Amino acid sequence: MGETDKRLTLFTEDEGAVTVVAKAARRSRKRFGGSLQKYFLLDVSWTEEPRRMPILTSASILASFWDIVADWERVRYADYLMELVSSLFPQPGDKAKAFAFLLAGFRSLAMGEPPVSVGRKTEAALLALGGWGPDLSACRKCGTPESRSFRFVVAEGRLYCEACEGKGGIPLSLGAVRTWRALQASSPPTVGRVKIPESVLLEIQSVIPKYLTWSFGISFRSLGDAPAGKKP
Ligand SMILES: [Zn+2]
Repeated sequence: MGETDKRLTLFTEDEGAVTVVAKAARRSRKRFGGSLQKYFLLDVSWTEEPRRMPILTSASILASFWDIVADWERVRYADYLMELVSSLFPQPGDKAKAFAFLLAGFRSLAMGEPPVSVGRKTEAALLALGGWGPDLSACRKCGTPESRSFRFVVAEGRLYCEACEGKGGIPLSLGAVRTWRALQASSPPTVGRVKIPESVLLEIQSVIPKYLTWSFGISFRSLGDAPAGKKP
């Protein structure tokens, strides 16, 4: 890789995260039409050779989410979403759908939706897409799907209703459980339209990132060590 080359990681619709080299990108900004920056939706092509990093051959801007840079919190969350999707979908899977959720998240951030809300929505959607649940269908013990409140036990990824005895877990109202279920069932075009009331956002804020971190045993750089809230 030469001094004027630039290394870029892209999340692509077909292949997920791909790191490519843009030759001479630092020497001439014109070469790729100023497109090689964050928060753009690009149409790209590259060439591959065995044992070498793919070489970017063209890139053009399809959409800009540049309004993200207007606010530091949006920037943090946009970087986090990119990191999240690349971590969860490194291997074959439904990349096109993961890509669509990432795109929906970027669009919502650029349009000014609160970053915390976009973050939790995308986490819930990506977890469900990858088959990592959690199973929120009913109380694990008695099977009731509805209860005024539940406890969510992170290490089990399951709910317990208020009537069933037991200790531990994070309290969740029925409203919060319903919202999380709706996010699990949402498609990329509809996820942006799910409205999360402030009180519910506070609740799921204390549980989804924890479940995510617990499930994968990783923490995500872009949001610091604790993606949302600290350990109890
Ligand atoms: Zn129960």
